[in-house]
Amino acid sequence: MTQALLREVNERIRGLNDDFSIFTGVMQIVCECGDPTCLQAITITPSEYEHLRSDPTWFAVIPGHAVAELEQIIATQPEYHVVQKRRAATAAQASGFNP
Ligand SMILES: [Zn+2]
Repeated sequence: MTQALLREVNERIRGLNDDFSIFTGVMQIVCECGDPTCLQAITITPSEYEHLRSDPTWFAVIPGHAVAELEQIIATQPEYHVVQKRRAATAAQASGFNP
């Protein structure tokens, strides 16, 4: 799965979670690392998720799942790390450009 697709999946999960988070205070999303087989769940609060979505280059991954060459860890939480896609990688991925 691509990270763009994962984002879509997580957006839909958020819609479902919205109802539950009223009671639990937390929601679950899927790890947004580059591993196509990784579908590990991350527990996150709705406000943390909103903050994460405020920048399209930010992704939540399970600690240890970040790829150093492509991503920079910009925040660490007990449950997950926030990584920022390096600009070149993001542009290349978006356009399909492959030098
Ligand atoms: Zn992962």
